Amino acid sequence: MQNVYADRLAAVQARVADAAHACGRDPAEVTILLATKTHDAATIRAVLTTPGAATVLRGENRVQELVTKGPALADLPTPTHLIGPLQSNKVNAALRWVTCVESVASARLADALSARVGPGRTLDVMVQVNVSAEQTKNGVTPDDALPLAQHVAALPGLHLAGFMTIGAHSDDQTLVRTGFAMLRTIRDTAVTNGLTTATALSMGMTSDLELAVAEGATIVRVGTAVFGARST
Ligand SMILES: *Cc1c(COP(=O)(O)O)cnc(C)c1O
Repeated sequence: MQNVYADRLAAVQARVADAAHACGRDPAEVTILLATKTHDAATIRAVLTTPGAATVLRGENRVQELVTKGPALADLPTPTHLIGPLQSNKVNAALRWVTCVESVASARLADALSARVGPGRTLDVMVQVNVSAEQTKNGVTPDDALPLAQHVAALPGLHLAGFMTIGAHSDDQTLVRTGFAMLRTIRDTAVTNGLTTATALSMGMTSDLELAVAEGATIVRVGTAVFGARST
């Protein structure tokens, strides 16, 4: 029997496919990450165990939520990414539960992750860029993105996977899209400058994923469209 989440996930997949086709991209180039903040483990499990969720990723914003929900979801194969700010004193807890930290916005955090990741393991890392310059948002300035990416790429135990941003909080689609285009340009510049692994572009959420796909997103991060509005 289908559950409501399976239907909503299918609708998001259709949105991504339509957006990809509209700009001549293969929908398979775009992975959906489910942003599960504030939702409990049982709800997350109900989504992640539907057949349509076989290829999705999960993202959490807070280390505390990774820790509290982690044990109840540990049997699921879905890779989990950290998509919120990380304090250096919570690095060990985060490393236990994630395969990728998308929200690296300082050399200091990159150094801490590299130092603690442990032998025989490689952690995927993305550099978060604040393309909209909104003060509430985590991320380095566009000018600081390439230097930080170069720093990450040189650190042992880390694999520079690409770049992440949160689009401008605005109804102005041109403004939002310009920010996504900026992240793509940063990514292209990084790859051209020898950071050839940094191909991922994590951008686009429920309200703006079409614009992000049009600008080259390889990961779109979706919460509300699948889980409904958050109460907290
Ligand atoms: C919550 C969140 C999302 C998903 O946002 P929705 O608007 O609910 O789709 C994506 N990225 C980050 C970093 C988030 O915190």
